Amino acid sequence: MFGLFHHWLTVRRRRALLAQQPPAFWEEWLPETVTWYAGWPREIQTKLARNMQIFIAEKRWEGCNGLTVNDEMKFLIAAQAALMLTGVEDYCFEEITTILLYPRQFRRKANDGLLEWYEWRSGEAWARGPIVLAWEDLMEGLAEHQNLVVHELAHHIDGLNGSMSGQPWFPDRTTQEQWERVSQAGLRQLRSDIEAGKETFLDPYAATSRAEYFAVASETFFEMPRDLRAIHPDLYRLLTMIYRVDPAEWR
Ligand SMILES: [Zn+2]
Repeated sequence: MFGLFHHWLTVRRRRALLAQQPPAFWEEWLPETVTWYAGWPREIQTKLARNMQIFIAEKRWEGCNGLTVNDEMKFLIAAQAALMLTGVEDYCFEEITTILLYPRQFRRKANDGLLEWYEWRSGEAWARGPIVLAWEDLMEGLAEHQNLVVHELAHHIDGLNGSMSGQPWFPDRTTQEQWERVSQAGLRQLRSDIEAGKETFLDPYAATSRAEYFAVASETFFEMPRDLRAIHPDLYRLLTMIYRVDPAEWR
């Protein structure tokens, strides 16, 4: 009962929200921020903007270590989040309530069960909890076809089925098994290429774990779709099934 009522409130709130025009600067900034935007049909452009409006309005934005989150920062982060949703209906990362933004890398306590140490991070994701991002790294990455927002949100999506293990949810068992095979083989190949000192197409960070392999592959899927399709066609095809878009066909 509560769930239904809550859903009704959400629908009503979103309707009111979407009745408002997005800020005027978006029209000018979107083609420069989202590489593919100018070539999209009008309805996809509109869908991106609507998901951005929802994402900005429904998340709590918190600046950390003295950072003040401004409209431009929200715009840029929401644009990357909405980029991941162009193929998806009625979903806007509902489980994420808060975006924490640090000016630059932040320090976190880490442990392996035995030892404890501090490490510097540029992002962090939880299946239920905030997404944490370092603004400086986010901006620097975008200039080099890395996408920290897509990376952390991919971890979040990966965690929706219970664990962030690089085994995201697929609509059927056959595809799930294909993903197991393709991602395991891809990870093995990547690790042996790195060990052999070869140049790799996927960022070597993907070799860290299965979870990082999925997150880095997701970044590459949206940032360099044609190269990914040419170099890792099976991986590419499986990602089109998760995100329900075929960005290699975007102009
Ligand atoms: Zn990661």
